Amino acid sequence: MHIYWTPIQQIVKEAPDTYTFQLERPDGFTWEEGAHTHFALEGFNKEDKPNRSLIRHMSISTLPREGVIGITTRIKDECSTFKSLLRGMELGENVAIFKTHSNVPLKRVGKNVYLLSAGVGLATFRPLVLDYLANGEGVPHLHSLNVDSSQNYLFENVFTSTDTFTAEFVDSRGRYHETVKTLAEDMDGLYYVVGSDDFLRETIATLRERGIPREQIVLDKHDFQMDEFLKHND
Ligand SMILES: Cc1cc2nc3c(=O)[nH]c(=O)nc-3n(C[C@H](O)[C@H](O)[C@H](O)COP(=O)(O)OP(=O)(O)OC[C@H]3O[C@@H](n4cnc5c(N)ncnc54)[C@H](O)[C@@H]3O)c2cc1C
Repeated sequence: MHIYWTPIQQIVKEAPDTYTFQLERPDGFTWEEGAHTHFALEGFNKEDKPNRSLIRHMSISTLPREGVIGITTRIKDECSTFKSLLRGMELGENVAIFKTHSNVPLKRVGKNVYLLSAGVGLATFRPLVLDYLANGEGVPHLHSLNVDSSQNYLFENVFTSTDTFTAEFVDSRGRYHETVKTLAEDMDGLYYVVGSDDFLRETIATLRERGIPREQIVLDKHDFQMDEFLKHND
C-alpha cells in the first residue's frame, strides 16, 4: 500500500460549515469518478497500529482533469478531534491519502441513472456529473436528488439542469421520500445512494417497496457490505 503525503493547496468554503480541501495531486496518483480514499492526518501511523481517530473515509469530489484532489466535508462547532485538527490546518501542511477505490463509477449501460444523496453525500456524485456532462454516452438521462435540511445546497454551479441532466434539491426527508417514490416509477433505472447508514436503509426500503430490484441499487460499499444492507429488504 502506498501512502501519499501531499500538501493542502487551497481551502474553499462551499457553504456554512462546509469546506473543500484541495490537495496537490501527487505524480502517478489517479482515481475514477465516485472514488473514496482514506484521508489521514500527521501522526496516524506513528505507533504499531494506525490511530483511527486520525483517519476518515472521504470521497474525492473532483476529477483528475481538474488537477487537484478535492475532499469536501462539514465541520460544525461541535466536532470530532479529527475535524477539529483539520479545521486548524493551514495551506502547505501535509495530509495522507491511501487505499483509493471507486465502488460507484458511472455505469454506461443504456439505463437512466438516479443519484440519491443526503447533505455532503453530494460530493461523491460531483465527479460523476462532471464526467457525464463531458460525455453522455450510454446514459440516456441522469438525475440527481439531494436532501439537505440546512438548505445550503452544494455545488449549484455543477448541479444545474441541462437537456439530459436534471438536478433537484429538497429540504426535508418527507419530501425526499415522496420524490424517490415518483422517480422509482422508472423500473429499469439504476439508483445510486450515498449518505449515512440510516439514510441508505430508508432509501433502499422505499426503492424495494416500489419494486426496484436490488441489482439496480448501487451503494458506495464493498460487495460483502452490500449484502448486509440489501438482505433486510428481500
Ligand atoms: C465510503 C465513504 C465515503 C465518505 N465520504 C465522505 C465525504 O466525502 N465527506 C464527509 O464529510 N464524510 C464522508 N464520509 C463519512 C466520514 O468518514 C465521517 O464518518 C464523517 O465525516 C463524520 O466525521 P467525524 O467522525 O469526524 O465526526 P463529525 O463530523 O465531527 O461529527 C459527526 C456529528 O456528530 C456531532 N458531534 C461530533 N462531536 C460532537 C461533540 N463533541 N458534541 C456534540 N456533537 C458532536 C457533529 O456536530 C456532527 O453532527 C464517508 C464515509 C464513507 C464510508
